Amino acid sequence: MLSLELVMLKVQRKLSKLPLNPLNMGNTHGQFLEYFKGFDTVEAVRGIFGAKTSDILGNLKVEFTWLKGYMYVNSKDGHIVISKAYLQKGDKIDIYLDLIHELYHVKQFFEGRELFDPKYKYVDRPTEIEAYRYTVQEARRLGLTEDRIRQYLKTEWINNSDFKRLAASVGVIIVK
Ligand SMILES: [Zn+2]
Repeated sequence: MLSLELVMLKVQRKLSKLPLNPLNMGNTHGQFLEYFKGFDTVEAVRGIFGAKTSDILGNLKVEFTWLKGYMYVNSKDGHIVISKAYLQKGDKIDIYLDLIHELYHVKQFFEGRELFDPKYKYVDRPTEIEAYRYTVQEARRLGLTEDRIRQYLKTEWINNSDFKRLAASVGVIIVK
């Protein structure tokens, strides 16, 4: 089992290599594995793609944007878009879990799933619930406390009642 510290070290090492030149206001494009080296060997990532891990990650593109936000999967071609500011300033555990979450969406994309189906609210969308479930499972495997996992799920863009619905859907117990 990959310890949390090792994962964090890996993530940190990747992040230190990122082209974060403040003069470069454009977006940076590259190969996912070029920046997140070794992610194709992370157990949680192999758990997502199975035998296709090397193939899919080897072809996956990543885009670093100066726009604010976190990260998401581009619904046209399935590449991952990540905010440079988030990578610089975000909590490293959140970033790692977000990467796992987004890679889960990459898998869904290649299965032909609709990632941003407007029929559903964010917290009710099956693709989100599945991605969060997998991410919570990884968070527990890493040894994060339930409190830290709740903190991870309670993002600024979902209100309290949506947070409770999402937590219930992914098997995280709410405490007052
Ligand atoms: Zn998502």
